[in-house]
Amino acid sequence: MKATQTNLFEGSPRLQMNDSIELTIQSILAYGPRYKHWCMAWSGGKDSTTLVTLIVWLIKSGRIPAPQTLTVMYADTRLELTPLFFAAQEIMEELRELFIEVRTVMAPLEKRFMTYILGRGVPPPNNNTFRWCTRQIKIDPMRMELERLFRDRGEKVLMLTGVRQGESAIRDQRIMMSCGKDGAECGQGWYQETMPEALCDTLAPILHWRVCHVWEWLKHWAPLPEYGDFSTAMVADAYGGDEAEEINARTGCIACPLASKDTALDNLVKRPTWAYLSPLKRLKPIWREMRLPQNRLRKTGKDTTTDKNKQRLGPLTMEARRYAYNAIMAIQEEINREAIIQGKPTVTLLNQEEQDFIQNCWKQNVWPNKWDGTEPTGDVLMDTVYADGSIQPIINFGD
Ligand code: SF4
Repeated sequence: MKATQTNLFEGSPRLQMNDSIELTIQSILAYGPRYKHWCMAWSGGKDSTTLVTLIVWLIKSGRIPAPQTLTVMYADTRLELTPLFFAAQEIMEELRELFIEVRTVMAPLEKRFMTYILGRGVPPPNNNTFRWCTRQIKIDPMRMELERLFRDRGEKVLMLTGVRQGESAIRDQRIMMSCGKDGAECGQGWYQETMPEALCDTLAPILHWRVCHVWEWLKHWAPLPEYGDFSTAMVADAYGGDEAEEINARTGCIACPLASKDTALDNLVKRPTWAYLSPLKRLKPIWREMRLPQNRLRKTGKDTTTDKNKQRLGPLTMEARRYAYNAIMAIQEEINREAIIQGKPTVTLLNQEEQDFIQNCWKQNVWPNKWDGTEPTGDVLMDTVYADGSIQPIINFGD
């Protein structure tokens, strides 16, 4: 009889690696043939990299029938954890060598995380009131690419996502708190839930995969020639190398302002190979600083066109944008100086096009809608204006 091991959290028998793969095959065989065109949303993280390399191997080895077309859509937020980005570039090459179409999906220049903050002056997102980033840098670009794919193919496509079921209530809770929707990580889960049904149906063929199988696939199976010869080991390495199984870290954007800690980056820079990236740890404090009142404008409340949140804090001052820009460029330069000395890959936090765009916004005096830069900064004391328009003057204790 086959030995079973009970998962402490799920209380269900532990699936073995081959069983996991077999179940994936069955789910593809059940739904895949209904669609001529498949696509895969690939964030470069551990789950979606497992999905992409596994599906390609299953097709190439004849274990599942190939669709008429297969398109891999790589989501580049411009904020990927550096080694994940490098690994994705290599895997992308390998996929192209296999004649798989890979499209890079990126937000337009003016909507990217850093250009939006440093150019337009929109404050960094936070957990409470203002979370614009997921939709803008992940969901909308993917939806637009999917619309393009739908037009190219002329019919509904099957979108495969790397969504997995959480292994434990504890982990699910953590994901929900940091960056997720209904328990799914920022990225894959959102693709699963937000892509329009008119354009695609979604299937999560590795839903049942345990995290240890994901590591096993990335570290030991996929790099072997008989399983595809993919450069996936670096993906596992980015999550913590040999300790990855214990750490079980999630990754989102580098320095995600919504996560309380930069766990993935912290683990990464502890290792000598990646220690030269430690200046990236200064990004998160920059975003935190940018949300402070003195770095932002505030409505006086005397504007009668709105009665909601009359004295709200708004965009970043030009000085704050310049300060953050210079600090980020200093991080980039510091890392790349060391990278060149050590013969390691360099990073591009802001490329030339993005730098030009940001500086142009400053020259053009660009402000978000309903702001023009004449408002006082958020640290200036002012009369309190209530929703009904009544005013409570500042109490001047000096008189
Ligand atoms: S990982 Fe963080 S910064 Fe990136 S899209 Fe998600 S919430 Fe926004």
